[in-house]
Amino acid sequence: MSIRLRLTIWYSTVLLLGLATFGIGMWFVLGHRMMSVIESNLAERVDGVRTVLELESKVKDSDLRQELWEFTREIPEGALTRVRDAHGRELLPAAGRQLLSAERGSITPGYRSVLWEGHLYRTLSRRIQAAGAPFDVIAAASLEGTAAILAEFRKFLFLMIPVVLATACLGGYWISRRALSPVDEITRTALSISVQNLALRLPVPRTGDELQRMSETWNGVLERLETTVNRIRQFTGDASHELRTPIALIRATADLALQRERSVADYQKALANIRDESERMTELIEGLLALARSDAKGMVLPQAAVDINGIVREVVSSNLALAESKGVELSTDLADSPPLVKGNAPALRRLLLSLVDNALKYTPSNGRVVVSTRAAAGEVLLAVQDTGSGIEPGALPHIFERFYRADATRSFGAGAGLGLSIAQAIAEAHGSTIKVESQPSAGSRFHLTLRTA
Ligand code: ADP
Repeated sequence: MSIRLRLTIWYSTVLLLGLATFGIGMWFVLGHRMMSVIESNLAERVDGVRTVLELESKVKDSDLRQELWEFTREIPEGALTRVRDAHGRELLPAAGRQLLSAERGSITPGYRSVLWEGHLYRTLSRRIQAAGAPFDVIAAASLEGTAAILAEFRKFLFLMIPVVLATACLGGYWISRRALSPVDEITRTALSISVQNLALRLPVPRTGDELQRMSETWNGVLERLETTVNRIRQFTGDASHELRTPIALIRATADLALQRERSVADYQKALANIRDESERMTELIEGLLALARSDAKGMVLPQAAVDINGIVREVVSSNLALAESKGVELSTDLADSPPLVKGNAPALRRLLLSLVDNALKYTPSNGRVVVSTRAAAGEVLLAVQDTGSGIEPGALPHIFERFYRADATRSFGAGAGLGLSIAQAIAEAHGSTIKVESQPSAGSRFHLTLRTA
């Protein structure tokens, strides 16, 4: 069932209940009001009779009857009045006596509704004292007028409620149709969005309401999806491209060696080349695997208490020979027994290795690379600082992107551009981020904080 139909049904039900309550309420109030007017008229008539009795009780019996008759003749429905004295004698002619004959002997005071000859009457019976003598007075008034007005009103309600309801329903349906019409357009556009045309966006109705918010939110989702899909596409393209280079080199080396018979030394050189390229490829594939895994389910690394100084010492000592061969001074500046950090030791080793590897790669001979740790409140700061080439400000925001190399031409010897992406993914798995400060031709400083265990 469509929302507009549901809205209309709800709206109509509430309106019907409201109108019915209003109508019934009005009907009761009107009936009650008219009845109380009739009753107060009856009470006034009885009071009038008492006044006549008080004034005329001294006169002769026949004069009293005459006075009473004249009094009742003057007032509306006065004929429907009955007066009895203490001896049970009727003081007024017999008009409507049957109607008023209900009570013989002593009367029961109060108002009553009576049906007489198919018509409804309201009666008031009262025992009054006038000039020291008791009298029974019964006055009646027809309820026909009241009943007719109420019936008229009822008819009006039965006629008008459906008309008002139908008009309101049609109006309500039309309004909800108008209000929800952007939904159809949004649905049509959403249906046409697929991975092939993720650049499409939902139309945003400028209504400032829930629909506008929903469209904007979905457009945000599409934006992020598009960025991610584009990144994956770029990544796949770059990965294939990167893998083609070492394979081409391996093939070319093998082809060259096989062209004619060669010396053992030549074969060894060719095989060594092939081994080096294979190692590069293995490294690349491992990097790709690590990133693919971290993309698939976020990098999940079992964490334990780790001695960060120990890791720094390990990584530095394994790179000392390389540093020396490049004429770069590699040293440490460690905090005195810093607290253990919460982390995954092999992953942190890999992260630090990437940073040290880069620092050595981009620092010319006679330069310096320092790995330092500092203990702070609840954290340990880890930094790798070099006096190398530095990074151009334009390149700085991109260096953590996959396959990004600040200087594309020096691709040989440099890595595939995955080192920092993997290091950043590891840092993120530790709830941290690698930050960098760098000045071209002055050097760079990569640093991150790790939570203590
Ligand atoms: P690569 O394998 O090419 O080193 P990375 O992801 O490790 O890839 O680094 C990306 C780019 O960031 C590098 O190509 C380099 O241009 C720049 N870079 C990283 N570390 C340094 C550094 N210590 N000094 C200068 N440039 C750096």
